[in-house]
Amino acid sequence: MIPLSSTKVQTISWQQQLAQALTDPLELVETLELPQNLAHEALTAIDSFPLRVTRDYLSCIHKGDINDPLLRQILPVAAENQQQQGFVYDPVGDMNASRVPGLIHKYHGRVLLITTPACAIHCRYCFRRHYPYQESSAHRENLDQALDLIATDKTIHEIILSGGDPLTLSDDRLKTLIAKIEAIEHISTLRIHSRLPVILPDRITATLAEMLDRSRLNAVVVIHCNHPNELSSKVHDRLARLREKNITLLNQSVLLNNINTSANVLIKLSHKLFTAGVLPYYLHTLDPVAGASHFHIDDQTAINLHKTVCEKLPGYLVPKLVREIAGLPFKQDARLLENSSEN
Ligand code: SF4
Repeated sequence: MIPLSSTKVQTISWQQQLAQALTDPLELVETLELPQNLAHEALTAIDSFPLRVTRDYLSCIHKGDINDPLLRQILPVAAENQQQQGFVYDPVGDMNASRVPGLIHKYHGRVLLITTPACAIHCRYCFRRHYPYQESSAHRENLDQALDLIATDKTIHEIILSGGDPLTLSDDRLKTLIAKIEAIEHISTLRIHSRLPVILPDRITATLAEMLDRSRLNAVVVIHCNHPNELSSKVHDRLARLREKNITLLNQSVLLNNINTSANVLIKLSHKLFTAGVLPYYLHTLDPVAGASHFHIDDQTAINLHKTVCEKLPGYLVPKLVREIAGLPFKQDARLLENSSEN
């Protein structure tokens, strides 16, 4: 492990930490004492989706271990350049569900706002790695258009902030955005989907927690954590700021080959999440996005893993195994996967 003190992340603001995210494959392999050839391979795979990782996340990776489960999530590899049948640019049908730029409406009662193209980390399996953020985000001038549309549709009661990562927005910008959402009477719930509580825990500022606590909206924060090694004591500490304000905390994970495709890893993850006050919500099968086929496992393996987890954990610690299928009105569960003829 890299000592946190060597990365100076404890004394600088979250914005500075965000700016200091590592983006150079050569620096990555030097920092983590990995073979140089990994950097050369990474350089072949970063044109359309650059390397990006926070120093906090790096501090959770074991030096010299090319199979570290956290490293494999952020290290660009040559396999990303291989085209695989069925792995596409928009695997979950975001563009077809877009009502105006940055407003995605798939499911009854809730809509998703793409608030920013920015992320603090680039997860190599990301289903939005090819998303056209420049023209299809609800930031700046597009935001009011999206909110105006939501205001005219009283079937919508929940707004989900997504991205990119909505917590890369400053507290001031979030405050303005939340005030605009609060002004829409029929919106009762604000959900924030973010990986920042895990990969840049200092983003959970007291101001942010206070802001969510004071809002008239029910606040739900859905973090994204795939492996128990991601839940450092610092993550645990910063999540406490949200817990203390009684913010509902949920987690979603993605099943990733050779990263968390072990029942023991998933069980440990659920226990650690619960200790941090977070309930496991979804375990997603991989969305078949172009460039991520090497993370794929077949449906039967996913189902067997999930069954083992069900046998070992109380129901409230078992995330629902789901797959999102473009055009369908809700995420599909494991029983439907089992009947699928795809694999
Ligand atoms: S943080 Fe989320 S949106 Fe950003 S790259 Fe990772 S999975 Fe994709």
